[in-house]
Order: sequence, then structure tokens, then C-alpha cells
Amino acid sequence: MDDLERLADEVERNGTVVAFTGAGISAPSGVPTFRGEGGVWERFDEGQFTYGRFRRDPAGFWEDRLELHEAMFGDGYEPNVAHDALATLGAAGYVDAIITQNTDGLHERALPANETNADEGWQNESGTDRDDETTLLELHGNAHRAVCTACGRRIDAEEAFDRVADGELPPTCDCGGTYKPDVVLFGEQLSGATLQRARTLARESDIFLAIGSSLVVEPAASLPRAASSTGATLGIVNLESTPCDDAAAVVRREDVTTALPRLQTLVLE
Ligand SMILES: [Zn+2]
Repeated sequence: MDDLERLADEVERNGTVVAFTGAGISAPSGVPTFRGEGGVWERFDEGQFTYGRFRRDPAGFWEDRLELHEAMFGDGYEPNVAHDALATLGAAGYVDAIITQNTDGLHERALPANETNADEGWQNESGTDRDDETTLLELHGNAHRAVCTACGRRIDAEEAFDRVADGELPPTCDCGGTYKPDVVLFGEQLSGATLQRARTLARESDIFLAIGSSLVVEPAASLPRAASSTGATLGIVNLESTPCDDAAAVVRREDVTTALPRLQTLVLE
């Protein structure tokens, strides 16, 4: 039995399984990264996209943000087999929650095997349930939505960007409030409630799977340890080593698009 088979064995025993995902799960879909070689910040000035700039100059912020959005998401991209494997395991009742650092919305769009309607299941809110089975917690929000900073109303980001392109700077809600991309901007605090929810999910898990995250930046760094400190089995799938490897029962230095479908097959067959 290899270590992935052992992990699958534990997942099959059907304790509470929480998956935690980072940029590495979306890289195979072609979603560009912010940092590093070829990252978005090589082409754009990171300083123009901070929460401080949004507060100071929402019109200029949105104008630049439209350009950034087109550069990042202009070509479109699709969930890959790793997203689909988690969705399938979730629909089968094996994955109870997915916590993600990503803002690309790909978990929301991923389809469990045998399901064809993308509109079923997930709701467009952070931390809501899919089929009453899988909780999706988007730690840093979702770039495909915008949120009114006054009343909290959420709209499709495409609508906000269309209005920006038509010269509505900044895009404004019916209540008079200003829309903001529904993501945690640089210099903006992660909501305490969201963070608390993530910590609770980690502590309540029997199996915590960290997938495609370097586990360096908070809160990513502390969640696996919160899980293992309360007795959870920690599994890590990441191409590079992480600071939590020493605490993990299983470490797979493997591409997510091979490890996750194999885990799915091992659990479900
Ligand atoms: Zn409003």
C-alpha cells in the first residue's frame, strides 16, 4: 500500500475531511499567479491595487482594475481534473469542506462526475453549502463578484467591469455605495468571521488535505497545524516542500492533476 492508498483508506472511513487549496490547484488551468516569474506583478504595479488606493481613488482604481482583470482572466479558463476530483468526492459525501486561498472561483464551477448543470449546488456566497454536503469557504473572496461597500449587495464582476468600460467610474450601487471587487485587497484585513470559520473547520477535521499551497503566508501557514494539533491526519500535495511537511502523515510531491484524480479513484472504486 502506498501513502496515497493509506490516505484514501482514511478518507473512506468517512470522518470529517477538509481540503485546503492554494494557487497550485489552479496553475494547471492556466490561471496566472501574482508573484514570481511571469506573474501579474511583473506587468502591473502592485501598489495601484491596494485597499488604500481603492479608498483614496476608487475611480482610478477601477480603471486600472479593468485592465488587470482583462490581463488575468481575459482568455477564460476552466476547472481542471483536480477541482473536479474534489467536487466529486464532495458530492459523494467524502469531502465536507473546501477552504481556498484562490479568488478564481474555479471550485464553484467544478463539476462532480455525472453532474452536468453548473448552476446546481454552490451558491454565490462565501461559505455556503453545496447539496448540504460540501462547504466552500473562499478566504480571499471571489474575483468574479463585486460587493457594495455600503449595503453588502453582490453583483457579477462582469457587470461592474462593463459599467467601468462604459465610463461609470467608480461603479455605484442603487443605494449610493461604491462597488469593490469582492476580494481581500492588499492592505485589507481578512474578515475575522471568515478566519474564525476556517480555524473551526480545521480544528474539527479528522483529515486535513493541503493541496497546491506553499503554506507559508498566514492564515495558510497556521491552519494545517491547527488541524494536526487536534489530532487530524494531515495530508499535503504540493510540488515544493512546505514548512508543515514534518507534521504531515502523507506528503505527495506530485502534480495535483495526477494526485487528486487518483485519490478520487481510490476512494470511490
Ligand atoms: Zn449598496
